[in-house]
Amino acid sequence: MVTTPTAEPAFLDRTNLTREEARERSALVTVHDYDVHVDLGTALDAQATGFRTRTSLTFSCADPGSSTFLDFIHDGVESVVLNGRCLDTAQVCGGSRILLPDLAGSNEVTVVGTALYSTSGEGLHRFVDPSDGRTYLYTQYEPADARRVFATFEQPDLKGRFTFHLTGPADWVLASNQPEAARRDAGEGLVTVDFSPTPPMSTYITTLLAGPYAVWEDRWDGHPGSGAPVVPLSLYCRRSMAGAMDAERVFDTTRAGLDHFHDLFRVPYPWGRYGQAFVPEYNLGAMENPGLVTLTEDYVFSSRATRAQYEGRATTIMHEMAHMWFGDLVTMRWWDDLWLKESFADYMGTLAVAEATEFTDAWTTFAHRRKGWAYVQDQYPTTHPIVADIADLEAARQNFDGITYAKGASVLKQLVAFVGREAFMAASREYFARHAWGNAALQDFLAVLEEVSGRDLADWPVQWLQTAGVPELWVRDGETPVLCQRGTDPATGRQVLRPHVLRVGRYAPDDGGRLVRTAVTDVEVASGATGAHIAAGGAAGHEAAGGEGAGAVRLVLPNDEDLTYAKIRLDPASVAAVLEHPVTDSLAAATVWAALWNMTRDGLLPAADFVGACCRLSGHLEDVGLYSQVLGQAETAIRRYAPAGVRTGLRVRFGAALREALSGSGSVVAGSDRQRAAMRVFALLARGAADAGDAGDAEDADHDAVRGVVTVLESVLAGWPGGARPAGDGTAEGGRAAVAPGLEVDAEMRWAALQALAALGRADQDRLDRALAAEVTAQTAVWHRTASAAVPEARVREQAWTAVITGRTADGRVLSNDHLSAVAAGFTASRPDLAAPFTPRYWPELTGIWTGRSNGLASRTIGGLFPAAQDALPGGPDAQDAHPVVAAARAWLAEHPEAPRALRRIVVERTDDLVRSLRVQAAGR
Ligand SMILES: [Zn+2]
Repeated sequence: MVTTPTAEPAFLDRTNLTREEARERSALVTVHDYDVHVDLGTALDAQATGFRTRTSLTFSCADPGSSTFLDFIHDGVESVVLNGRCLDTAQVCGGSRILLPDLAGSNEVTVVGTALYSTSGEGLHRFVDPSDGRTYLYTQYEPADARRVFATFEQPDLKGRFTFHLTGPADWVLASNQPEAARRDAGEGLVTVDFSPTPPMSTYITTLLAGPYAVWEDRWDGHPGSGAPVVPLSLYCRRSMAGAMDAERVFDTTRAGLDHFHDLFRVPYPWGRYGQAFVPEYNLGAMENPGLVTLTEDYVFSSRATRAQYEGRATTIMHEMAHMWFGDLVTMRWWDDLWLKESFADYMGTLAVAEATEFTDAWTTFAHRRKGWAYVQDQYPTTHPIVADIADLEAARQNFDGITYAKGASVLKQLVAFVGREAFMAASREYFARHAWGNAALQDFLAVLEEVSGRDLADWPVQWLQTAGVPELWVRDGETPVLCQRGTDPATGRQVLRPHVLRVGRYAPDDGGRLVRTAVTDVEVASGATGAHIAAGGAAGHEAAGGEGAGAVRLVLPNDEDLTYAKIRLDPASVAAVLEHPVTDSLAAATVWAALWNMTRDGLLPAADFVGACCRLSGHLEDVGLYSQVLGQAETAIRRYAPAGVRTGLRVRFGAALREALSGSGSVVAGSDRQRAAMRVFALLARGAADAGDAGDAEDADHDAVRGVVTVLESVLAGWPGGARPAGDGTAEGGRAAVAPGLEVDAEMRWAALQALAALGRADQDRLDRALAAEVTAQTAVWHRTASAAVPEARVREQAWTAVITGRTADGRVLSNDHLSAVAAGFTASRPDLAAPFTPRYWPELTGIWTGRSNGLASRTIGGLFPAAQDALPGGPDAQDAHPVVAAARAWLAEHPEAPRALRRIVVERTDDLVRSLRVQAAGR
């Protein structure tokens, strides 16, 4: 595409910056300094939609006389002054770009305009706390939304030094990447804070924070080994959540991370301060803005959190901290190499959690949670190599996915096994030394890794980073057992046989019937090979003769210790073993459950067998993260992969197992994290208890099942406004003690129960409103939206549909990102028969929604309303191509070849999920 900047609307209104445009611009322009003033004097006025923003920017141009453009998505540009010349804004300003014609060798441009407050989590998000009416703002830019706040060269390889000035109420916290340098009175109760200039950095990691946030301060004492000085630490969250902030614990994790990364990288933390702001309605887990990380406030635990949630928060904190080096200090040139920061941060973050915190089992979580994400993503038709081909910003936005993060990190784990940890860390240090404050690409990292490790890496990245798809590994057992692999790149259809360094374990039952490791063997599979012999004998070798008679129970586990990235196919004897016997080692158990889940999703293991194994064995899973994951998968198996005819029976069976876990009478202890995890899944399972079509003639049995479910849910709500009369001894505690003794009932538990009751038609709008009135918080307001939309009445579904499609409530209020998703979640919470009439109305809306909304809101809308809950047609897996929803989806794709790739990608992936669920249902028994 020819990308010469012009004054045409087709150019100046274009938001979707291309790689080609970015390349040309960075060849032409070298950025020096930004001076940015953002005036939030209007932030408290709910009627004010915009704020004033002024950017002055100096840059040089390699080809004087030529033109370039700034990015700015705005609500009006007042003036553009280039090198002292006032440009005609009508001529040079479009909806998202500003033309800069006739450049000099060195240039200064100043843009003054109005930008918009956001409710989508993109740009400058404004949030009013429903519990106290206070207003909070924060920014979120990646990949390219700084331009929604100030005029920029919005691409990662045009780094600049930023001096921010922020005006806001004098009693607010006003913060940015760098510390406050000065403050001036700005009149009318306002103040302007000047921040210190930043080191060179990309636009997408600049940030502003404003509002009456609660603040905690502490420090990290530095690191003599690397010469790192003392770093001031701070935490922020909304005042109404301050009571729930466990600041000491977060500071401890932060300090442990700084110690760990300095030991590892030996490059002093380069950004001065380390702030972490927990913010509302955040679209992601966190963002690595140097000096001021933003994180979702879901990590401020106002309801009781399990150990797995604390671990999740620690993992996010470490991931973002790793970015201070991988991403912030050395940045990818363009979004093709997004993995170069995300895969590394994911890997380094998990490593830091495993080695520097109490969560020493972090690799177990990685094995079942992160890798699970990667396996799903890597089997879509849309999958891509880890090093992706990202032609434009919309494609970049879609690539924050399971490949870039989880598969990339899994493959790095394999790379560390391949080259050795010391070589890998030495290469990282050299990479920082060589590219600090600049940009880099894949070749730059591989070049240092080859130098340092002395290994020829010509083939490794081709096989692992530049192909797509999941390898499959299995063991052909016998006299000389062989580890086998196969793999096909779904994008090219070509066979890919990757090099693997891994271990194969053998397990046999101990006296208690638990599978314990009896041998482990190192195996190296060469690139291009379909397999490798598993050496026998030796201390670490194959000990088949030891305790395994013919037909004895045994597990052979390829990829024991989870070193490589692959779908594991267990042989039939191993499947039989793990369906009946628990595995003692937590990482091995995670690897086994991941294999069973993959087999279920591939139609190789009936959903009923997965659910049965979960009912029998989940009590042995001591790790609450793995326990929650397996329970959640069993619930999904029933909803998505079980044939309609067996769903009710499986719900009853799984419900009974969960009730036993709740009761505290078995291996799950009353008041434990696992009891809480069981309650969460019980509430999700309960939503489906009254689904029509589950078992047409089993209505009476169904009603019994519903009655039992309602008793459990009501026991959680006993004694709460709108709660039913308690069971048991007639008191709230007594009722609960009869069902879930020791369960800590808080807002999360109450609303999990209320949402399920609403979905079952057992909690009407009035009851939901009373429950909300009793405790108004940002979270309860969102949960209330889901519950309200879940009430199983056609009229309610119609209202919910209209709200999501228009992005507004019935009384005209704009739905923010979280509220939009909450309504969509209610719409699909239960009773697919009530949503079915809307399916034909879905397809004609798609292109309008995509063009009419931000990418974030459009993705939530289109993903949230996709008609995913369908029953298979009779006639086996191949008959499912004729399913009317599949046919409609494919027809839409065929009729919209020109739709934006990012929009098509959502539809392709959701359709692929649907086809998979229908085929597995149809193959099931
Ligand atoms: Zn990241």
